[in-house]
Amino acid sequence: MPISESMVQDIVQEVMAKMQIADAPTGKHGIFKDMNDAIEAAKKSELIVKKMSMDQREKIITCIRKKIKENAEIMARMGVDETGMGNVGDKILKHHLVADKTPGTEDITTTAWSGDRGLTLIEMGPFGVIGAITPCTNPSETILCNTMGMLAGGNTVVFNPHPAAIKTSIFAINLVNEASLEAGGPDNIAVTVEKPTLETSNIMMKHKDIPLIAATGGPGVVTAVLSSGKRGIGAGAGNPPAVVDETADIRKAAQDIVNGCTFDNNLPCIAEKEVVAVSSVVDELMHYMLTENDCYLASKEEQDKLTEVVLAGGKLNRKCVGRDARTLLSMIGVNAPANIRCIIFEGPKEHPLITTELMMPILGIVRAKDFDDAVEQAVWLEHGNRHSAHIHSKNVDNITKYAKAIDTAILVKNGPSYSALGFGGEGYCTFTIASRTGEGLTSASTFTKRRRCVMSDSLCIR
Ligand code: NAD
Repeated sequence: MPISESMVQDIVQEVMAKMQIADAPTGKHGIFKDMNDAIEAAKKSELIVKKMSMDQREKIITCIRKKIKENAEIMARMGVDETGMGNVGDKILKHHLVADKTPGTEDITTTAWSGDRGLTLIEMGPFGVIGAITPCTNPSETILCNTMGMLAGGNTVVFNPHPAAIKTSIFAINLVNEASLEAGGPDNIAVTVEKPTLETSNIMMKHKDIPLIAATGGPGVVTAVLSSGKRGIGAGAGNPPAVVDETADIRKAAQDIVNGCTFDNNLPCIAEKEVVAVSSVVDELMHYMLTENDCYLASKEEQDKLTEVVLAGGKLNRKCVGRDARTLLSMIGVNAPANIRCIIFEGPKEHPLITTELMMPILGIVRAKDFDDAVEQAVWLEHGNRHSAHIHSKNVDNITKYAKAIDTAILVKNGPSYSALGFGGEGYCTFTIASRTGEGLTSASTFTKRRRCVMSDSLCIR
């Protein structure tokens, strides 16, 4: 029987209602009142995971993939309902992407040397219990993706999710534990607390049983983790510019940029946040954005009003983050047509709506006098985050010059930003892009330590 919209809403309401019963989930399927209890449970399950074969780990991961697909729509709706950010359709796609393209145990490989003096291997071993801090922008996606990679590496994980997305996060943590039990594994492969705070985060970061912390979020959390004295994986903020030069297919560039920018209402950290185009193509690019890609051209007055609302008092207004273009326009009294999905305008790179990582479909377009000027402005706008950048060009010399100058973990050429996550592009998926610490797009092997195993004078049979 096909599941109707109202049936899904009923299920979401039912799950949400269950989660409001404070005691119900405690200690079960990964949810605890106390952070120390949560860590203890993850430590116990880690001792079981440690003894499991790679094949057993993979069975749990397969079951997680299946359950993500079964619950993709529920988690998508839950994420939007709870945080007010993003859109259900794109969040469903993001969950399917996690299920299909997050690497499992195949990512754990061995390097070997054999010769007269024996056999030496580099094996990728688990850290043990990993601490993970997750954002409200992709709450369940990050938790599911982190758990699969960390478990594939032989670890268990303690999450301190964003409080604004705790129900969705709890649902995802329940799901991975249910999958583990169903596949014959232990409960509590992933754990959290009912009410995550900065205090629970501190307990986690300082705990003797947590040797590695993965932080996915803005600059504050990454700096906190990197100051913890523990090894940290820092997946921080971005402000990805999309450069367009005169050799690009301008019509396609307009389409790709708007599609990438509007995906999940611009929440992904990799999404196009502004455009820098050489002067000779700006008008054509904006023409295609307006005539073929459902964009709204904001007047100077509307830009000022948007700045007042979006950056109220100079601070990013969280009530605007992840909202769709029509909602943002309605906040400044504009009743936009139903098809509008992106707000565009031309402005200098210093414009507050251009220089700030807004995470909403407002796309400022900066005019550059030539390609070198475009590169310089784009590098300035990326703020040294070394996160993501995009370019539309057929000139390999230009692409190379930009790639070297901007030095980001991700650089998409001639496509929408989300192709970097394997969506319409080659390669695997992750929602933790370690921009600050250099691991880049994390996968199971990121969550392992390299161990050298040496057999002296034997086992070489060459
Ligand atoms: P956020 O920084 O507000 O919160 C992220 C997490 O960090 C939350 O769990 C929050 O509770 C916690 N946190 C914040 N400050 C902390 C501190 N000082 N100590 C301990 N914990 C702290 O970010 P958000 O709004 O949830 O997500 C959006 C931001 O995250 C954007 O800047 C985006 O670019 C970035 N992001 C990066 C990646 C990546 O892979 N690099 C992925 C998603 C989001």
